[in-house]
Amino acid sequence: MGGVGRRLEALPCGSVEPRPRQMNRRERMQVILERDGPYCVWCSAPLDSSLNQPTTEHLVPRIKGGPSWVENELAACRRCNNERGHQGPAGWLQDCVGMGRTPRTHVVISALERLQAAIVERGGQRRARPYIDSQLRRLRKM
Ligand SMILES: [Zn+2]
Repeated sequence: MGGVGRRLEALPCGSVEPRPRQMNRRERMQVILERDGPYCVWCSAPLDSSLNQPTTEHLVPRIKGGPSWVENELAACRRCNNERGHQGPAGWLQDCVGMGRTPRTHVVISALERLQAAIVERGGQRRARPYIDSQLRRLRKM
């Protein structure tokens, strides 16, 4: 695992344990855009820092137990982000198709798989696990 986007703090002399520094919001968004490309995950609109600024979208909503990890974050336009509310990714993706939008289904599936792998590696997240499994099953059938 590469620890994408993580930078290490300068280590005090004699220290052996590298401590990953928390990324701020801008750095996290940079990681997400480099990972997934600069497009809204729900409508494929191009995102940029002037006309259509990216907003942070939680793959597994935090009220469903989604962790505040960069693996649980996607980039979306403000419109899609606001309209989704707390809907799960599979249901909202279907709504987007119904509204004639072009969601990036493969990006959502990859993100869920990445989050699943991160949870296996780090442990915990008991509430999110079955949620991710069922969302993946639904998305793979679409
Ligand atoms: Zn959008």
